[in-house]
Amino acid sequence: MPCPHGVNIPQNFLLLNRAKFLGAVSYARTRFAGLRRRSGDASALACKRCGQCLPKCPNDVPIISQLQETARLLAR
Ligand code: SF4
Repeated sequence: MPCPHGVNIPQNFLLLNRAKFLGAVSYARTRFAGLRRRSGDASALACKRCGQCLPKCPNDVPIISQLQETARLLAR
């Protein structure tokens, strides 16, 4: 897990994709809320925009902006 602040990046992106491309918005919002309830917030809302994950991504994914999109779409 490359995030020192506990953000579960793959799980957030999985939920974003399910909401955007499969239309499973309600399901994704419920799972996103679950990420927030665990010990420590693992959701996109916990992202501090520090950028430490960026050089560790082999695919140059714009992680911060995608996490922001995830939070916009799934946080209630
Ligand atoms: S930018 Fe966000 S997801 Fe990336 S390491 Fe920092 S807090 Fe974690």
